[in-house]
Amino acid sequence: MRNIILFATAFASLLASAASATVHKETCSGADTGYKTLNKACANNPSSMMVNCANICTNFDIRTSKCLSWRTQEVASAICTSTGDKMLVRRCDDEQTEFAAQAIEKAREQAEKLSAALNALDLSELDVEAQRRFGYARHIAKGAANWLNHDRQFLCKSSEKTYCSGNLAMAIPLTGGLAAVRLCDAFFNLSVEKAGATIIHEATHSCCATSDREYYDVGPNDPPLSTQNWQNIADTYYYWAIKGLCIPGETECSANAATISEGDNGAASIAVGRGAGGGGGGSW
Ligand SMILES: [Zn+2]
Repeated sequence: MRNIILFATAFASLLASAASATVHKETCSGADTGYKTLNKACANNPSSMMVNCANICTNFDIRTSKCLSWRTQEVASAICTSTGDKMLVRRCDDEQTEFAAQAIEKAREQAEKLSAALNALDLSELDVEAQRRFGYARHIAKGAANWLNHDRQFLCKSSEKTYCSGNLAMAIPLTGGLAAVRLCDAFFNLSVEKAGATIIHEATHSCCATSDREYYDVGPNDPPLSTQNWQNIADTYYYWAIKGLCIPGETECSANAATISEGDNGAASIAVGRGAGGGGGGSW
């Protein structure tokens, strides 16, 4: 089933690269940016929405080999982040695109904060195993922040519905080791904060092959965090992004080795235990 998505993606790319494609602001009837690729349009128009539009011939005169009338069609759209990176959004309606833009920007903010907070941790009082885990977590948080600072793809709809059953979002492998993130219907009902953290969860899968051995924010009766290899669990980063850094344990996410000190840069606050959150599905 993955092939169907790849085919559709390849087809859209083909159209987008057609010589007649032009990039417009927000819709095909919006201002022409003068660029032919989303990359360039985003690099020069940060914090905006862009669509790549192609002219499709609807009335071709075979005798003269000329096109008599055209229809303009949107072949790809992108969220240009504040740093001009291009986040391709596919098969999303306007509302979804706008929410995805907010969530991606929030995720970038959260990932930078998280990475800075992890780097600011004083690990010296922790046991060797905890030090090792936090060392790895630093690597993953940095990987997620980097992932969010490069061109990526997000899909709102796909022909494979089962991907989304019970999920908020999923990382979908593409060719060449790339990954797209499928944003499921439930994703759009989240707060921007949780939506951002959900993207971080997916980013850690894509950048750093984290696992889904546990989900943390699924209900009031679940243990908050695990004693497993939490540094390699995607939801650890979701949890930290929302609640702040803490040390995952069997019954609580404790801040008592606070040694987990807040960095001088005020990067992150420390939360203890679960907040009032809960509810919602997981992100795979
Ligand atoms: Zn996951």
